[in-house]
Amino acid sequence: MADRLDRPLRDLRISVTDRCNFRCVYCMPKTVFGRDHAFLEHDELLSFEEITRLARAAAANGVEKLRLTGGEPLLRRGIEDLVAALAELRTPDGRPLEIALTTNGAALAVKAAALREAGLTRVTVSVDSLDDAVFQAMNDVRFPVARVLAGLHAAHDAGLGPIKVNMVVKRGVNDREVLPMARHFHGTPFSLRFIEYMDVGNSNGWSLDEVVPSAEIVETIDRELPLERIGAQVPGETAARWRYVDGGGEIGVISSVTNAFCGTCNRARISTEGKLFTCLFATEGHDLRALLRGGVDDDGLARAMASIWGARDDRYSEERASLTPELRTARRKPEMSYLGG
Ligand code: SAM
Ligand code: SF4
Ligand code: SF4
Repeated sequence: MADRLDRPLRDLRISVTDRCNFRCVYCMPKTVFGRDHAFLEHDELLSFEEITRLARAAAANGVEKLRLTGGEPLLRRGIEDLVAALAELRTPDGRPLEIALTTNGAALAVKAAALREAGLTRVTVSVDSLDDAVFQAMNDVRFPVARVLAGLHAAHDAGLGPIKVNMVVKRGVNDREVLPMARHFHGTPFSLRFIEYMDVGNSNGWSLDEVVPSAEIVETIDRELPLERIGAQVPGETAARWRYVDGGGEIGVISSVTNAFCGTCNRARISTEGKLFTCLFATEGHDLRALLRGGVDDDGLARAMASIWGARDDRYSEERASLTPELRTARRKPEMSYLGG
């Protein structure tokens, strides 16, 4: 099954909650996600049964990898039960799906062992700085970095490897932290992914000046810790991978702004309330929750998904450069916390 630009569907990201205990300035700024912000009610969220049915339909259409995200997925009560249900699913040729989760790590020390036990395959932890003052300014809820690092190690000890660490780099905010982060994770089992700050949603006040191009990040690290490029291992891989020449592991750079990878994009996203988005920047989602709650059977659900994917022609990151700032802001894009990163 391929979309109009001949891209298969392989990867499904599922937002299990729109809530978060952090207020990262680039994702859920307090000015927008303040005390009076209306989050979704519990019955508006997909239930675990509904998520599992959608994932089964996705697997029937070629999906091999699921990623649970949010908001903060570890805030969803009983998340390990969802992982256990998803771990039962199989591809049409009988293989289990890869089940990954992206987290801010705050609750990982408590949850890692149960998640592993339930069948989680891998985890990605977001860490934007090792400097506690910078880290706390970025999460904006005074959460100490030491607790996230403890979660990261707990995940490793629980056998949830290989673990990726995501760092969103914002010019003037944490760009000085690139080298300390590289030094810290060099020679460890954790592989660092540097993500270009993106114009997701409409609340983070994005501007191109705040993006640190991946090429600059690679150059900065390479000057002290020489790097060499590794070819892509999985088609549709978002990160360009580099390895340390001295054998100290690898890093990845995700250049969504300076080197868009829409041509191989095989990802779909399910929002917290069950809308299927065929692009992180799509203005509209397709309401699969309405189908589920309207009594559709599994075949009907899989067919609906196939026809949505078949009509897909999204390539926003490739088009971004040709949009004026006014056109970019006028476009109503979903927030990352609702759609899932
Ligand atoms: N709360 C979890 C976390 O922070 O890992 C999962 C959800 S979060 C939306 C998923 C990923 O998106 C995180 O690594 C986060 O840093 C990244 N992210 C959020 N807003 C972003 C933006 N504007 N540009 C680039 N990455 C962003
Ligand atoms: Fe929460 Fe993750 Fe967004 Fe930070 S990036 S506000 S931790 S959802
Ligand atoms: Fe995929 Fe859309 Fe991102 Fe392009 S902009 S890589 S189509 S999610």
